[in-house]
Amino acid sequence: MKNIELKPCPVCGAKAFLNRDVVDGFFMGYSAGCPRYCFYDGIHGHDENTPPEEHLTKFNFVSAEQAAEWWNSRAANTKVKNERRKKNEQD
Ligand SMILES: [Zn+2]
Repeated sequence: MKNIELKPCPVCGAKAFLNRDVVDGFFMGYSAGCPRYCFYDGIHGHDENTPPEEHLTKFNFVSAEQAAEWWNSRAANTKVKNERRKKNEQD
């Protein structure tokens, strides 16, 4: 795999991951995103109702380059922070 640069997570600043996912010997595609996002840690302001376009981790890319490209444009879009602040103010 080529050395691919990944932007840090726009929400928590964690180093992003890029995985080649293999389950029981079957190649499931590539995934990329924030490693902390998957844990519902409360930092990322998401739950099971969060729409896919707001996700900070995504699976099933056919290539590592595609996964990295998605993540880097996702990370460059820091709207997440503002949306989350708005949501917290309503609560
Ligand atoms: Zn994060």
